[in-house]
Order: sequence, then structure tokens, then C-alpha cells
Amino acid sequence: MVADYEVIYFAEIRCYWCGHDCGTVNSRGAPTTAPGVPLEYHGTGGDSRAVRSIGEIRCARCRGPVYAENHDKRREYQNFVFRQRRPRRPKVA
Ligand SMILES: [Zn+2]
Repeated sequence: MVADYEVIYFAEIRCYWCGHDCGTVNSRGAPTTAPGVPLEYHGTGGDSRAVRSIGEIRCARCRGPVYAENHDKRREYQNFVFRQRRPRRPKVA
């Protein structure tokens, strides 16, 4: 049976060198620190891209290396889908 929610893992990305808040990463189904897990990187500037590890992310301000902190996770529930249309009241002639 398919679970009706997915666990989404989050971490904040911060620069080692200047402490700049570089954005967040998230992954689905496995922690962001697990090897081989694809990550979605959401930069503070609004850009988003897929990365294979946080090692691919560099600080937008000083090009320094980054680290992840404040790991968190939450459940993301799928939208409930109605199986059939709601029956309509017949029009009165
Ligand atoms: Zn930096």
C-alpha cells in the first residue's frame, strides 16, 4: 500500500567563510545527508536547482564552501482527490 504522505527533509545552507545564509535544501524520502540522494537547492536569491550533494553549492557572496544545519523534516500529504464528480441537482424545466 502506498503511504498517503511523503517525508520531506530540510536543511539550511550556510557559508563556512562568511556565515551567509545561502538558502535551503530539501530531499524526499531520505535525509539530505544520505549519500546519493538528489537534493533540491533553493537559494536565497530565488534560484532553485537540483544538486547531488551540498558540496556542489557555493556561497553566492564569497564563493566559499557551505555546510548544512538545522536539519528538519516534515510530512507532506498528498492532495485528496475526489473519485467522482459531485452529483448535480437536476435542472428544473
Ligand atoms: Zn560566504
